Amino acid sequence: MIKTNNAKILVVDDDATQIQTVISHLQSMNYDLFIAKNRSDTLKTLANNDIDLVLLDINLPDGNGFEICREIRSQHEFNDNLSIVFMTSHHSNEREAEGLSVGANDYIYKPLNQQVLVARINVQLQQLRKTKLLSHYANVDALTELGNRRAFDEQLQQELKRGEREGVPVSLLSLDIDFFKAYNDHYGHPQGDKCLREVANCIKSECRRPSDFAFRVGGEEFAIVLYNTPASGAMLFADKIRSKLATTALQHEFSSVSEFVTMSIGVTDTLSASYNIVELIAQADEMLYQAKEGGRNQAIAHDWLAVI
Ligand code: GH3
Ligand code: MG
Ligand code: MG
Repeated sequence: MIKTNNAKILVVDDDATQIQTVISHLQSMNYDLFIAKNRSDTLKTLANNDIDLVLLDINLPDGNGFEICREIRSQHEFNDNLSIVFMTSHHSNEREAEGLSVGANDYIYKPLNQQVLVARINVQLQQLRKTKLLSHYANVDALTELGNRRAFDEQLQQELKRGEREGVPVSLLSLDIDFFKAYNDHYGHPQGDKCLREVANCIKSECRRPSDFAFRVGGEEFAIVLYNTPASGAMLFADKIRSKLATTALQHEFSSVSEFVTMSIGVTDTLSASYNIVELIAQADEMLYQAKEGGRNQAIAHDWLAVI
């Protein structure tokens, strides 16, 4: 399918005539339509496409719509960015209430009226846009466009759970700009902000895998979570970021360690600090402290391996 900005709507029904009806009602709208006739195709289509809204029939050959709805909602990624609308010909207040209680956003009755169907879909899509926007502002740092502290806590917890379940290491890097107070004091706050954005861009440019996550967790403090990466790999990563920052050559005449802006980085992983989030963060911060104490402009891992 050609990539568009159209809303993506998945129509789930085992009855070909019903599917035809929905398609004919919606074809004049700017929607990209997907079709599924059973539970397993529904889950597959959701996993592989960025679907915005599901029109879900309740009686399917391999599952009940309520169960499927509950199953979809149990997956973290489908909590806030997917609207589920039941469609049924069976009028029942109890079932309608049950449908809404298992995670549906709306409930509509067949036979479907074209105007009502389109209007209800558009209400859902509008709501979805607002939810996505709110979620963006709640999780993204406005200055650097990196994830914020809140996003960091959530993502780290999620990656730790995933790492423990799948038996793979997760690394955490704690990064802090050296002598940034002096930078701000001498060059001014707007230039300080510019510097933070430059540093964030260096970090972003090195986060190449979909499982590398970067955040601004405080004023001039950043954090990076690397899934399926041990501390040795994270040290190479830390080195790349420091080299990248060096190539930007941001002047810092008031730093005692370099004429350019530099960073100190603390590195740890779940092999040394367990999958406990509090322990892992404490360990990374301890390593950052060691890097500062050791003269700044360097990365240090828990086993005292240092890159200067
Ligand atoms: P160290 O090398 O030990 O890390 O020293 P430092 O001066 O970098 O650390 P310190 O924590 O003393 O100072 C952090 C400074 O970061 C204080 C403040 O001026 C600056 N800062 C914090 N948030 C922002 C921000 O959003 N924008 C700008 N421009 N500066 C900020
Ligand atoms: Mg600092
Ligand atoms: Mg600091």
